[in-house]
Amino acid sequence: MALTEFSLIARYFSRTTTPDSGVVQGIGDDAALLAVRGDRQLAVAIDTLVEGVHFPADAAPGDIAHKALAVNLSDLAAMGAEPRWFTLALTLSAAEPDWLEAFAHGLFVLADEYGIVLVGGDTTRGPLCVTVQVAGEVPPGEAMTRHGAMPGDGIYVTGTLGDAALGLALLQQHTRLSAPKRVRDEAALLARLHRPVPRVQAGLVLRSLAHAAIDVSDGLAADLGHILAASGVGATVDVDALPRSPAFRRWEQTRPAVPAKADAANGPGAVPTQAEPLALLLGGGDDYELCLCLPAEAVAQLDALEPGVALTRIGTVEAQAGLRLQHADGRSCAVPVRSGYAHF
Ligand code: ADP
Ligand code: MG
Repeated sequence: MALTEFSLIARYFSRTTTPDSGVVQGIGDDAALLAVRGDRQLAVAIDTLVEGVHFPADAAPGDIAHKALAVNLSDLAAMGAEPRWFTLALTLSAAEPDWLEAFAHGLFVLADEYGIVLVGGDTTRGPLCVTVQVAGEVPPGEAMTRHGAMPGDGIYVTGTLGDAALGLALLQQHTRLSAPKRVRDEAALLARLHRPVPRVQAGLVLRSLAHAAIDVSDGLAADLGHILAASGVGATVDVDALPRSPAFRRWEQTRPAVPAKADAANGPGAVPTQAEPLALLLGGGDDYELCLCLPAEAVAQLDALEPGVALTRIGTVEAQAGLRLQHADGRSCAVPVRSGYAHF
């Protein structure tokens, strides 16, 4: 039987909720009614993924759903908020049961992992577009913001940088991997691109220590730049300290001098786009790691915390405005980093 708008919602997106979810009225009324716990602030974020801009037309539906929710959870992580509820606005060109089944599966596996509940949305027909809005809770005064970084703070990042951008460069044939771990490394890098892991736990345990935080979605240089601008400070970052995954390191050490293929979009005779390690680490984007500024007194407490992911110190906040890049031996480093992606 063909899916109607309402049978589609009922079949793929309506689930029962438990009392501790705080959902007084979920899917099925004019609005959701949610019980915010006493003395908590609500942190709200929204992000849209558009076919052809954020993912290709043939992307796996489970990956699209995962990424749409994960990038929003990453925003809650950057605020130090506990994920609670989300809504989903879905624009579909057709109601395909197999596609919807895989989409809903990818969505709810991630939602259940982070204890966030779908409480409403909107379903329309048109070019494929997925908007997720999330709400999380945070005790007053504990949310991390972009302002508040102070000279002397250590700059830290979670996890590793550049993997998603390297995965994209592989797909676009701007570089290639060499044997022997090529197959495994490629799978790991593409997983970072298609299935980002939001650093929610790190945000929760570090929120009381951090002076400022942001999630790295547009590339470290651009996103750290937002913290520096909002805080009225500058920084020096050691590019040799930027954390790299094993797959990224193997590529960095063995990468071919010429790319696999010239950038077709640039036309015949165009200079091929070649993926450069520092450009990917600093400007690649899609990392969904957290970048945090921590005061010296917080560093002694880090060992006692369980952020669920490695934390690496990459630099220091300074009074002098601007972002300075240098190598471990102190040589300054000029990197042609594209500024963060801007739609307009
Ligand atoms: P309204 O007429 O108020 O716009 P709709 O008819 O669009 O409501 O939606 C009916 C119910 O289904 C509402 O509770 C809405 O939040 C929910 N809903 C619609 N689309 C989705 C979706 N993709 N995921 C989850 N809930 C949805
Ligand atoms: Mg509607």
